[in-house]
Amino acid sequence: MSPYLAVLGSGPAALYLTSRLLLNHPTIRIHIYEKNPAPFGLVRYGVAPDHENVKQAMKQMKETLQHQRVRFMGNVELQTTSQKHNNQHENLETESVMKRKRKRNQVRIETLRKHYNAVVLATGGAAKDRKLHLPGEDTFRNLVSARQFVAWYNSDPEQYERSVPQFDLKNTEEVTIVGQGNVAADCARILLSPIDALRNTDISQDALDRLAESKVRRVRLVGRRGPAQIAITASEIRELIHLPDAALYADTVMINKAKEGYTLDRPKKRIISLMLEGANDPTRVDKSKAWHLDFLLSPQALHPNKVDPQVLDSVTFARNRLDPLTMRAQPTEETMTWKTPLLLRSIGYEAQALQGIPFDVDQSIVPNIGGKVMDYSVHGSIIPGLYVTGWLKTGPRGVIVNAMMDAYETADMILNDFALEALQNDECSHWIGVKHDSHIEDSDVVDYARWKRIEQEEQKRGEILGKPAEKLQRVQDMLGIE
Ligand SMILES: Cc1cc2nc3c(=O)[nH]c(=O)nc-3n(C[C@H](O)[C@H](O)[C@H](O)COP(=O)(O)OP(=O)(O)OC[C@H]3O[C@@H](n4cnc5c(N)ncnc54)[C@H](O)[C@@H]3O)c2cc1C
Repeated sequence: MSPYLAVLGSGPAALYLTSRLLLNHPTIRIHIYEKNPAPFGLVRYGVAPDHENVKQAMKQMKETLQHQRVRFMGNVELQTTSQKHNNQHENLETESVMKRKRKRNQVRIETLRKHYNAVVLATGGAAKDRKLHLPGEDTFRNLVSARQFVAWYNSDPEQYERSVPQFDLKNTEEVTIVGQGNVAADCARILLSPIDALRNTDISQDALDRLAESKVRRVRLVGRRGPAQIAITASEIRELIHLPDAALYADTVMINKAKEGYTLDRPKKRIISLMLEGANDPTRVDKSKAWHLDFLLSPQALHPNKVDPQVLDSVTFARNRLDPLTMRAQPTEETMTWKTPLLLRSIGYEAQALQGIPFDVDQSIVPNIGGKVMDYSVHGSIIPGLYVTGWLKTGPRGVIVNAMMDAYETADMILNDFALEALQNDECSHWIGVKHDSHIEDSDVVDYARWKRIEQEEQKRGEILGKPAEKLQRVQDMLGIE
């Protein structure tokens, strides 16, 4: 009898794991459960629209989803801890939020384990963003997480269900981004790119329209540590310094010092020389826009506008020094304050804990040994037949290639356990058992053929707008396509 595997999530980790298993196991059947009607995780809803080469990863992922031993079940999700909580409080939500919300088809981990030989958790690590933890942070309309900004330009339906941020770029000349990682760099590039460079992408039409009338001239990327610790990769820095009409401003004395003061590996040396190249570019003065790298600063206080206290007026930053032993940022007495009409918070992500599954809150991961989920209640033991991969396994860091290598590790663990005959389940009735126990109708599920029809509709809408696709923002609209 063929063994059946349930995979939760359909991002790169889930699909690279699936392709590895299909290649190395002659009969395995894999059912992929995805909470969104659309597959591909952050490749669809995270990767910037102008990163077309990165989005090419979807080609191989599509082949995996179409494999005859794979079944895609979109719009079905594993219950999370917050959903259990939310269900109890749903009647407190406003009518407009409820209207945007869909009926959720939820499955429980116990049900999946009962009906499959093994279960793999690949639900990612970017459900929430890390906060600054400063008073007033949640009250300002113009303090938005980079996650929301990305969700806006990438038409992420999950975000749409919560709230649709209104980015008033027509009246905004300067944007401050707290964070110096790749997501911060993506946001800066989207804000400073010539609009024509974005027209031929699948960026949301709303974002395109608002960016077309944007008055943003300056983007400041603020990092708590120094140039040698910057988390933006060389390729993202290169893209920023090659923007046709935006110049880099950064403290070259500080960058040169970083070059001399530390033993840097090759990628870091490359990043430092790119920053110096950009900051010393003689054509800088001819450019009408600017992006700044501000080092060794941590936000310390948020100041409301005197007339409208729900609007952030300015931010005070503490000047940091680096502890020479730990390389941690330590605040000094020195501070600086500047006004900002829009503040994006981009200091990392956190995973969503899953109902009934161990979760390490500090590391924001499911505890595991090489992909086998650990049982917290029994020291050092693992939960048989339960695996984890991707950002939920490693934490939210690294790029798609890292997720792929990590998925291969978990896949090899599973293959090994199959070889040892450790994953027997005589009662395995897979999807048939799960849908029965979870009261889910086939018509509620988006299978691969239905997803292809949604994709075709998006391409049709894109064609009218002169773009490759206009993604549907609302789950209800996607589900409207039978
Ligand atoms: C804004 C942003 C931009 C990025 N840009 C790049 C880039 O340009 N190049 C690059 O190489 N890497 C980039 N990355 C990194 C890359 O996206 C990650 O390395 C990769 O997506 C991690 O894969 P994953 O499968 O673990 O998670 P994800 O891609 O997050 O996939 C998780 C999947 O699980 C689903 N899911 C979540 N909860 C549930 C549930 N309860 N039940 C069922 N399904 C669920 C989600 O909908 C999603 O489809 C970017 C990341 C971000 C955040």
